[in-house]
Amino acid sequence: MAKAMHCSDMGSDCTFVARGGTVEEVMAVGAEHGKEVHGITELTPEMVEKVKSVIRDE
Ligand SMILES: [Zn+2]
Repeated sequence: MAKAMHCSDMGSDCTFVARGGTVEEVMAVGAEHGKEVHGITELTPEMVEKVKSVIRDE
């Protein structure tokens, strides 16, 4: 089963969806997207928890 993190679930007006086979893969894709598109260069522990909370199975 794949996992996905919808950027819109993070409260942004963005249609990007990070996908991967594991939470770690989704986090890596999401971190890269956040850096390139949203200028987030550092993931705080709070943000990591938030991201993990919105990752879904699909
Ligand atoms: Zn985004």
